[in-house]
Amino acid sequence: MALAYVGLGSNLSDPEKQIKHAVALLSHIKNTKLSDLSSLYFSRPMGPQDQPDYMNAVAALQTELSPLELLDELQAIENKAGRVRKDNRWGARILDLDILLFDNDIINHQRLTVPHYGLELREFVLLPLAEISPELMLPNGKSILALSQDIDTNGLKVHSKLR
Ligand code: ATP
Ligand code: MG
Ligand code: MG
Repeated sequence: MALAYVGLGSNLSDPEKQIKHAVALLSHIKNTKLSDLSSLYFSRPMGPQDQPDYMNAVAALQTELSPLELLDELQAIENKAGRVRKDNRWGARILDLDILLFDNDIINHQRLTVPHYGLELREFVLLPLAEISPELMLPNGKSILALSQDIDTNGLKVHSKLR
């Protein structure tokens, strides 16, 4: 059994509804249990600024799946939500589900980099992670709580509880 952290993000088609629906689908992934969930946060877009604000959250999953099997499940949920992959990086999207951490694993696969490469740089990932697991350490030994306290919050704010 592994403990994985998944980052959720949406800024199209009623983001709050998208995130809540995605959480429901996460809780139904085979051989996987949703073990924790952050609040829902409002955040400012990265990259192109001519797009709506985002909503973000982080979920903790206990899973018997391999990292690539989990990625397949997450991408199936993204596709089900109607996400269309475009060339414009960091552009608006209905749903983004990223694997942030998978146990203490370091994965450098063509389809999967874990820890997620943006983890230490993104307030909308660090603050929700610190909310649910303040004691968490990255494989490189850094503390999630310390990283979350040092980062510019860029206007990130809690919108509501998710459960
Ligand atoms: P960013 O990676 O900067 O957050 P993004 O999430 O919008 O951008 P996507 O279009 O969702 O990027 O994913 C592009 C590819 O990234 C996916 O096809 C997937 O194979 C790969 N990928 C690599 N590492 C991860 C990870 N940790 N979680 C999810 N996808 C990943
Ligand atoms: Mg992403
Ligand atoms: Mg992604």
